[in-house]
Order: sequence, then structure tokens, then C-alpha cells
Amino acid sequence: MDLFEYQGKKFFAAYDIPVSPGEAVETVDHAVAVAEEIGYPVVVKAQVLVGGRGKAGGIKLADDADSVREHAGNILGMDIKGHTVELLWIEKASDIAEEYYASFTLDRSAKLHLGMLSARGGVDIEQVAAEEPDAIARIHVDPVDGLTADAAAAWVDAANLNPAARDGAIDILIKLYRAYVDGDADLVEINPLILTPDGRVHALDAKVTLDVNARYRHDNWDAYEATQVLDPREREAKEKGLNYIGLDGTVGIIGNGAGLVMSTLDVVNQVGGSAANFLDVGGGAGADLLANAIEVVNNDDNVKAILVNIFGGITRGDEVATGIVEAMGRVELRSPIVVRLDGTNAEEGREILAASPNEKLMSEPTMLDAARRAVEIANA
Ligand code: GDP
Ligand code: MN
Repeated sequence: MDLFEYQGKKFFAAYDIPVSPGEAVETVDHAVAVAEEIGYPVVVKAQVLVGGRGKAGGIKLADDADSVREHAGNILGMDIKGHTVELLWIEKASDIAEEYYASFTLDRSAKLHLGMLSARGGVDIEQVAAEEPDAIARIHVDPVDGLTADAAAAWVDAANLNPAARDGAIDILIKLYRAYVDGDADLVEINPLILTPDGRVHALDAKVTLDVNARYRHDNWDAYEATQVLDPREREAKEKGLNYIGLDGTVGIIGNGAGLVMSTLDVVNQVGGSAANFLDVGGGAGADLLANAIEVVNNDDNVKAILVNIFGGITRGDEVATGIVEAMGRVELRSPIVVRLDGTNAEEGREILAASPNEKLMSEPTMLDAARRAVEIANA
């Protein structure tokens, strides 16, 4: 679950990481009122779940009420990379001497936490990584040991920050690691982490992704959840109790078992197609669940072909086929549906499918054949 900057800053503040005072507002008048209270200069910041807001014109400094009025008016309603700005964060402006980058995330291949720190902050970190990989100091942190003060100090030294930032940076990085671990985040990123002319180190931006598997441990995540902008396809799937993740390709995928569905995505990719979604109907899926799954995938405008890949174990092929045929009666199929059915009662299932008069329904004997056919239709 991704947090907006204003939520990320609240999250950081709870772990004692210094951030600027500010307030989230929805209107120009409220923006001006907050600015008057904070005192000038202030920064008017678009709250959208996408980076590069500064370059897109979504972040402006303002010295007086008129300028807040102007910038807030321009930024509210602005489109930033497909996200409409509905909320602003108004905060006390900071003086910047230097801009750094700091983050923690999980390095799955090393099975350790990964910290990244760079004196080249403020800009796109992917760009720094590509052009100047040595400008990023990396540290692996063993979750059992945690981040010790000595390790943090050596890390800061390796990043060649201004000596004036050394103590402040060490302090913030230790707190950031605590926020990342105790706060159950998958990612915490501060870009820029700034050094002010008077020697303070301070988080000027906040990017936080929380690990929803830890949801049960955090009552205070209600507020974050309330502001989540769900993909409409994902919302519909959730209401129907389906395990669905929206993607941006053209082949709708339905399968049973997460592993099989992931392999199906790979095979579709391998034969030159792209998946519109991940949808796992799970083990023992009956006719009704299948019909619901087809309905959700069929509602996706990008889908040009649907690929149903079922291997019957507990799930019975005849039940699956019945579900598919039932779905044909319930939904008006926008695109053809290619079914690969194998395992328990597959024969009976295929007979049920073959008996359907619906021309959009077709069946293939193997996963590869089915993927090829679906992709051929989708790419036509
Ligand atoms: P992003 O573009 O979405 O990453 O938004 P940021 O919050 O990182 O802001 C982008 C840039 O705006 C920063 O790198 C700063 O250069 C500038 N900026 C943001 N807040 C302030 C501030 O309080 N004072 C000054 N002088 N510049 C700021
Ligand atoms: Mn930033």
C-alpha cells in the first residue's frame, strides 16, 4: 500500500524523523489559511501517488497569500502522469544547502535489507544509478543484527556527504531503519534528504510503501486505507472475493493456483503477448466463482482475448466447464475465450465446452497452444 507524501511524513514523524510542519488541504481558501498560520515562505505540493511532481510543475514555493492562491489554484485539478491532483500539502519552506537520497528496501536475492544513500539527491535516483553507480553507497542490514550506530556511521562516510551533515544523517538513518522495520514498510525513501545552511538534516519528501501482510498489526492504518485509490477492476474483483491484480496488457488471464497463473503470465509473454491481469480462482473453484472471474475480466476494456488455464486437482474439470458455460449465459462476452482444461474430469469438462454453441468459446489441449491462440487473437 503506497502512502501519499503527507501520510509518509506523518509516518516518519511518529519515528522522530524531522519533517517540516504542514497541513493537507483540498481547497485554495484552505491552502491560504494554512499558509497564513504557518508563515511564509511555504511550499505548495501536489499530493499524488507518483514521483517527479517537481518537474511536472506540481511543487511551488510561495512568498505571500496571493502567490499561494495562484499556485494552489493551478495545481489543484492538474494532471500529473495520469493522476489528478485533488489534495495539496502546504508546508513551511526550507532553505537547502545540499540534497541527498536515502532509502531502505528489501533485497530479496541477498535476503537482507538494503539501504541506499547518495550525495546526489533531489534528482531521479534511477538516473544516478545508471550514470554514476558509484555515487550510491549501499549497505546490507541483517534483520537480526539491525542497523548499528557504527555501521550507519561507516555508511554515511562511504557516501561522502558534507561533514556538516554527518551526525544528523546517522541519526536519521537509524530512525529510518526503525520506521522501516517496526512500521512494517516494504520501502521507505527520502528524496531529497536535505542539509540546511544552519546544519540541520531533514526529510523534505517521503515515499512509503507499507506491507499489507502486516495490516493486522496496525490499527492506525485505517486512515491510509481510506484514501487508497483502487483500480476499478480490482475493486470489482475484491467485492466478488477474487484474488486479482490488474496489469496493462491485452490477454485476460484466469487460472487456479497462484503458481499456475504466474506460469501462464510467463507463457503468454513468451509467445509475444501481454497479460491484462493476474486472477487466481484458487483450489476447488466452483461454477459460480468461475463465472464471476470471467465477468470481471470481461469488463476490462483492454482485454482482447481471455485465457482460462485450469489444472484440475481438487477442482473438477466438469465443474469448471459448467461455470464457463454458465458465465456465457450471464455475461455478454466482448472477446473470445480460450480454455485449457487438464487434470481431474478434464474429459467430461471438454465435452461440456464442445457442446456449447457459443462461437467465442474455444478449447486447446495444452497451455502453450492455448496461450498461442489467445495471443494471436489479442494481437490481431
Ligand atoms: P518530487 O519531485 O515529487 O520528488 O517532489 P519533492 O518533494 O522531492 O520536491 C522536488 C524538489 O522541489 C526538491 O528536490 C527541492 O529541490 C524542491 N523543494 C521541495 N520543497 C522545498 C522547500 O521547502 N524549499 C526549497 N527551496 N525547495 C524545495
Ligand atoms: Mn522527491
